Amino acid sequence: MDLFLYLVLAALPVVLYVAISILPHMIRRTCPECEKRGLRWCSESKGLFFEEGRAVRAHRAYYVCEKCDQAYVRRNKGDYEVLSSESRHQYIDDTGKDKSKPKK
Ligand SMILES: [Zn+2]
Repeated sequence: MDLFLYLVLAALPVVLYVAISILPHMIRRTCPECEKRGLRWCSESKGLFFEEGRAVRAHRAYYVCEKCDQAYVRRNKGDYEVLSSESRHQYIDDTGKDKSKPKK
């Protein structure tokens, strides 16, 4: 076998690992509000959250729709819930975004 084939075979697991870890964040999901494929993953947090006076171990992922600008939180891979404006400032980084775009 020649050297090129060895290099391709050696790099293949790394390329697959990077592709598998990046692709889910690049694919746009359907927004519950406008029903277009514009939902962009922004951030996620895992750990203990205080809900209704007790600590709960949970996973939360935060999304923004690039079509209608609605922000969502997804708890434990459940349904998308609309994020309040206070939580949006806390969990979603809107810096660098074009502020001239009209907000809904
Ligand atoms: Zn939308």
